[in-house]
Amino acid sequence: MLDKPIYVTKASLPPFDEYVEALKALWDTGILTNMGKYHTELEKKLDEFLGVHFISLFVNGHMSLELVLQAMNLTGEVITTPYTFASTTHAIVRNHLKPVFCDINEKNYTIDVSKIERLINDKTSAILPVHVYGNICEIEEIDRIAQKYDLKVIYDAAHAFGEKINGQGVGTLGDASIFSFHATKAFNTIEGGAVTTKDFLLLESLYQLKNFGFRNEVTVNGVGANAKMNEFQAIMGLCNLKYFADGVLKRKSLVEHYRQRLRNIPGLVVLEEEKDRQIESNYSYFPLVIYEKEFGFTRNEIKEKLNANNIFPRRYFYPLTNSFKCYENEFDIAETPIALKISKRVLTLPLYAELEHEVVDTICDIIVNLHK
Ligand SMILES: *Cc1c(COP(=O)(O)O)cnc(C)c1O
Repeated sequence: MLDKPIYVTKASLPPFDEYVEALKALWDTGILTNMGKYHTELEKKLDEFLGVHFISLFVNGHMSLELVLQAMNLTGEVITTPYTFASTTHAIVRNHLKPVFCDINEKNYTIDVSKIERLINDKTSAILPVHVYGNICEIEEIDRIAQKYDLKVIYDAAHAFGEKINGQGVGTLGDASIFSFHATKAFNTIEGGAVTTKDFLLLESLYQLKNFGFRNEVTVNGVGANAKMNEFQAIMGLCNLKYFADGVLKRKSLVEHYRQRLRNIPGLVVLEEEKDRQIESNYSYFPLVIYEKEFGFTRNEIKEKLNANNIFPRRYFYPLTNSFKCYENEFDIAETPIALKISKRVLTLPLYAELEHEVVDTICDIIVNLHK
């Protein structure tokens, strides 16, 4: 039993004095929000760091998704997956659009591209795939389908901050991508989010929608919300960005440790490096899938055992969003059988830059000893 609880993640924080020092400027100017100096500075730095065309910052990831869907004036149906955080599905529904659920693949738990086309009809306006756990979707095939049927593609890249595929930032993919800078994510601005896009008109529209639809002092162009990132958040982002690369290296080494300890145990499935694709990962999640027949214990039993030892992994992503109480009787979970199977068996293990390798060993010992 560990004396301090170990949670699934722990927010990355810069040295306290660095944050406080940076805040002093706010007390001089009194400018706390409304696209201030630090907001602009963070936008510039992230634009460069992510290698994207344009970026627009938001108060959180969810509002960036809700408002990019609104800005695109989508209608009818949006194809997505239920194996994700509530935000993805809620953002579609809150825009009065209908989510149409596609199953996931077993390779990396992203949308199964071989099952998308059969879901397309004349009401379909977009595809909203998720780079779940930072696993990058099969982008070439998604692109091909979108072109063929003239659909928009919005990637939920909430887990994929700083990742690259074929040397390109994930934020350059599709018509737009959204990121989350929530405290629990790989890069945080306390709460925060962003939309990246190559479409300048979309960028302009987002700028207005996150500020009540104001174009200028007297012209209100859109039925906007208030979703601006404030200066405290922007300063946290500027401080944290300096340490992001270091965090990736530390988590990479922890992921390799987990893989080495847990691969080859009957009934356990760990995702390996995708050697056939050119990917730069941010290593922010370690999902473990447990097949109870071969392993001897269920996912929930392993969770209980770890909890009893003061270790708190999470069942990301369980339940599926298409089985949420608020969507009762609206969707048929049998239509996404792989998502259902993984969701019932997944346990996301603790992973964050400051996690100690010794703790990884303790967690693996507990799991491996159960099997024996
Ligand atoms: C965290 C998350 C979001 C929402 O981001 P917030 O910043 O928490 O609003 C959206 N999609 C996914 C997949 C997420 O994990």
